[in-house]
Amino acid sequence: MSLIKKLLRRTERKHSKKKLIKWLQKERLLARTLKCPRCGKKMHFKKKTSIKDGYTWICRRNHHRQNTVRSIRHGSIFSRSHVPLVSYMKHIHRFAQGLRLRQVDMVEEGLCGSSATITKLTQKLKGVCVNAIRKMKRQKKMQIGGGRAYVVLDESKFCHKRKYARGRFGNTWRRKAWVFGMMEIKRNRRRPLLKVVKRRTAAKLIPAIQKYVRCGTTVISDEWPAYKQLGQHGYIHYQVNHKRFFVHPQTGAHTQHIERAWRTFKNEVYRYRGNLTKKSLKDQLAFIEWNYWRGKSHPRGVLGCLFEDIGLKYQV
Ligand SMILES: [Zn+2]
Repeated sequence: MSLIKKLLRRTERKHSKKKLIKWLQKERLLARTLKCPRCGKKMHFKKKTSIKDGYTWICRRNHHRQNTVRSIRHGSIFSRSHVPLVSYMKHIHRFAQGLRLRQVDMVEEGLCGSSATITKLTQKLKGVCVNAIRKMKRQKKMQIGGGRAYVVLDESKFCHKRKYARGRFGNTWRRKAWVFGMMEIKRNRRRPLLKVVKRRTAAKLIPAIQKYVRCGTTVISDEWPAYKQLGQHGYIHYQVNHKRFFVHPQTGAHTQHIERAWRTFKNEVYRYRGNLTKKSLKDQLAFIEWNYWRGKSHPRGVLGCLFEDIGLKYQV
């Protein structure tokens, strides 16, 4: 995807907006055709230097009193934003890079523009990811385990860390929450499912496991009593003491690998700088899932996956 980098650089140098727009249309981030809202006929794609984007959609049939115009951004992720397309694309590129380096919070660093704009764009892109993950969950495409994969269960307590003692409390979600994680390990691939649970009782955890983990899967957990019944539900269950060194009999994986993965997820959530409300915690968890489930495994890389998911949310 160095292609996009080259394209952005060229666009900036030559001020050739058309090339970028055509490319965005090819990638389906901008509409390729648009119908006139008044007569329903196809509109024309026209150069117009007086507007920032340099182009517009126009319909000038006789029965319209005036020309009907529509922004080329209509219905796209870029609509209702004044950020130039080149800057917007640079931001998307940078966002994808931050994810590839597994540093979710790097996303907001090192970008030009006002911080309010950057936060807004980042939120929009995160929304795209969360939307894609929710869709996968609805379609029951997020099943784990089976075959040679095994699943590690763990619970962590998350609480909002405020940097300053003062401040408004309005929306701040101060109660502690348990995040229940089920992580599939298959050779080098890790695929986590992260879920906020009110309590970590068997009544809450077992149904979640049954919903996402395929029957017959090897499951490793700590010695928390809620997991005791798992063997009776069709899983091959190992309960281990996390403090002690444990090597999985078939795969050779050991608990230290797992502990490290959990630390990564936790750090990713904690580094999120906004107010951690219950909703934003859930979104942040979905965003982490997106990175492992979609971004990392997409044939066109994180950026390609991002484009695909933008198309999913903003159908132009
Ligand atoms: Zn018309």
